[in-house]
Amino acid sequence: MRPRHIPIRTCAGCREVRPKREMVRVVRDFSGTVAIDQTGKINGRGTYLCPKTECWEQALQTGSLARALKISIAPADRAGLDRAWEQLASTV
Ligand SMILES: [Zn+2]
Repeated sequence: MRPRHIPIRTCAGCREVRPKREMVRVVRDFSGTVAIDQTGKINGRGTYLCPKTECWEQALQTGSLARALKISIAPADRAGLDRAWEQLASTV
């Protein structure tokens, strides 16, 4: 039998490739708000990260998250996202 196709994505932080369902989607919605999409269903431009704080920080520091989402993340938004990410990373 042919193996089922598993969607894979590249982490915007460490650039590792993993199955999509093991990753966290970060999305920019139509209003330009960046959100961590735990349902995978938010419409907008998204990118994927491993559920690890180091990948999150790497993606922010290298600017690859901003590039992938075609947005610059304001420091005020960054604080809220950091908190949301910490909660998420501590549950995995
Ligand atoms: Zn990663």
